[in-house]
Amino acid sequence: MSVTGKNIKHYTVKKAVKRGIQHLASSFGRHNRSSKEPQLLVLMYHRILPQRDVRTRLEEPGMIVTPETFKMHMSIVKQYFEVLPLSQWIKQKQKGEPLPARCCAITFDDGWADNYEFAYPVLQQLKLPATIFLVSDMIGTNQLFWPERLSHLLTDIALNCPEQWQHPELKWITETTVSYQFNNPPPDREQLSEIINQAKTLSDEEIHNRIDTIETKLQLHNKPPASLLSWQQMSEMCASGLIEAGSHTCHHIRLDDKQDENILAQEIIQSKSHIEKQLGQSVKTFCYPNGDHSDKAVELVKQHYQCAVTTRSGWNTVSTDAHLLNRMGVHEDISSDKTAFLARLSGWI
Ligand SMILES: [Zn+2]
Repeated sequence: MSVTGKNIKHYTVKKAVKRGIQHLASSFGRHNRSSKEPQLLVLMYHRILPQRDVRTRLEEPGMIVTPETFKMHMSIVKQYFEVLPLSQWIKQKQKGEPLPARCCAITFDDGWADNYEFAYPVLQQLKLPATIFLVSDMIGTNQLFWPERLSHLLTDIALNCPEQWQHPELKWITETTVSYQFNNPPPDREQLSEIINQAKTLSDEEIHNRIDTIETKLQLHNKPPASLLSWQQMSEMCASGLIEAGSHTCHHIRLDDKQDENILAQEIIQSKSHIEKQLGQSVKTFCYPNGDHSDKAVELVKQHYQCAVTTRSGWNTVSTDAHLLNRMGVHEDISSDKTAFLARLSGWI
């Protein structure tokens, strides 16, 4: 057998084994079993975008679910779980009130405008509550998070001035990337994902500074379109009673050990008061950007919020620390059919 033939066979076997495990997990996972202790599953979404939407081009695959897939997820969730707002489950737990045996809370990180366009209509139709974690000082502005700024910048260079790949200010990217050769066509979403992960070894501030420098030195003025929610959209969703706002800091900085204590306090406390002032409702829930949390950050969050979510994968019980809740991240590539989604919920894979 040729090497290629061997590879194809290996790939087919691997795929069949994976599918078999998915079937087992979707049938016998935690979502399908009874338990003595109440269980909480917190789903983590970011962006809901149609496959052909131009906004998907700058986004890592792990960030997106299509509206069709999202609707399928929500129908399944409604079938298997009691769906409560995250703050409601925590309130009932703290008061010692009875909790549903199997509960699900739906969450969205960052505050993307597509949550209003594509997720909110589905949630309204199925009458399902959800929490959107807002980056308070970016909502209603045309600012972007650094991964989308970086993706836009690299796509712009590839399309409009590829000779600039040799520029010394780009060395920190070009010399550390393996999957992309810095030529036309522009990096695809997997390659952008590698570049973004590599950049995470630097601080958020340093990355923004480096992107600013590249934009200035290479005279790149082509800005990407605004992608975040407006306060008006958020107010409308909150007024429906289905959507609650949580905080995701002021500027989406990582709350790790390297972070200055004054900045930690500012990001955790001021984001809460800013959102409360804009929406006229109290903010009880918090989400750590990138899942990073130093002990000091958790301590501050405990003083100001009823609960907080991480990016650590898993289910929660009443004994899970309310300020370090696990979530189940969902994106299109791993959940586009019912079996794959249920397998994801199972907590097995
Ligand atoms: Zn985030």
